[in-house]
Amino acid sequence: MATITIPQSILPEDKRFGSGPSKIRPEQVEALGQAAHTVLGTSHRQQPVKDIVGSIREGMASFFALPDGYEVVLGNGGATAFWDMACASLITRQAACGVYGSFSAKMAASVAQAPFLEDPVLFEAEPGSYAVPELTQYVDTYCWAHNETSTGVEAPVYRIEGSEEQGALILVDATSAAGAIPVDIAQTDAYYFSPQKAFGSEGGLWVAILSPRAVERAEGIRRSISLEGARRWIPPFLSLTDAIDNSRKNQTLNTPALGTLVLLEDQVRWLNENGGMAWSSARCRKSSDIVYQWAEDSSYASPFVKDPQARSRSVCTIDLDESVPAAQLIAILRDNGILDVNGYRKLGRNQLRIGVFPSVEPADVKALLACVDYVVERM
Ligand SMILES: *Cc1c(COP(=O)(O)O)cnc(C)c1O
Repeated sequence: MATITIPQSILPEDKRFGSGPSKIRPEQVEALGQAAHTVLGTSHRQQPVKDIVGSIREGMASFFALPDGYEVVLGNGGATAFWDMACASLITRQAACGVYGSFSAKMAASVAQAPFLEDPVLFEAEPGSYAVPELTQYVDTYCWAHNETSTGVEAPVYRIEGSEEQGALILVDATSAAGAIPVDIAQTDAYYFSPQKAFGSEGGLWVAILSPRAVERAEGIRRSISLEGARRWIPPFLSLTDAIDNSRKNQTLNTPALGTLVLLEDQVRWLNENGGMAWSSARCRKSSDIVYQWAEDSSYASPFVKDPQARSRSVCTIDLDESVPAAQLIAILRDNGILDVNGYRKLGRNQLRIGVFPSVEPADVKALLACVDYVVERM
């Protein structure tokens, strides 16, 4: 079938709208170009790389307005690795997990597979809504996702009433939320994420904001495995205490991708220079408002998430009428250079999913929607 050519004049300037990996700003790539002669291909144990890691940690501390005693820890393997690290190094005996999409389900699956932990208590909700775990007896850790990237659902982040008295920790997967959606870090003990979404970097790294209680928990679990008869195994790669020790020296346990660190450092600095979390979250709110309002007004599109409060401000999911086949629309957009607006494959809906992270210009979001209308009118 002949494709439809969108006029140059209405195309967005930058055509990347992925929900992760997401747009990397040209200035970040410039920073990478500068690092090419000084940092790339050099030892990650030397001062220049330590300075980059140090700047990331300080920049994040300022961005998230860390309460006293909280610290920024990082390591290799992405949020996926952090799930297993939480199993090995943070959950004492049993966790309660909110499950409402692919990513929150994967975290719960990791917990269920850990042979030294009891099966997690699940709080489940249909895709398109969320379930924050409720206070549960014997549970020592509560886990859920701030933003379920597979469905475009934003969940609230708060200390579950009674959980503190219980000595339980709050672990929040913030991968597509951190940097885009406001959060009160004091409500969490581990707020962790990969940097290839709102932080516009590349994959392969995890960052976790840890409370003093989370650090204490990890140290306690570390000590307990030396006891005779301990069933737990902490593979060195999943040792949070090792990651903490390294991070405090602005290092990682094993060799990191230096390019990822350079891109991330530039992004954190850019966000802080522009006004930090208040600025970036307002920008994402603006872009997501544009998308949801367009969908509400459209004759063929509607927001997938029914509850307006639960609609993500970083990843917008939009259902399309049966008469508009998403696969065909997305293919035509791709022919015109507009990338990655497909829905999450396993969700299997006739849907667009639009990443509106801080790097994405709200004007480009408007242009994208004009292009969608242009194509749909001619399909
Ligand atoms: C993307 C994503 C992950 C996985 O990140 P990786 O870097 O691939 O490990 C985990 N959780 C959420 C909410 C995500 O959006």
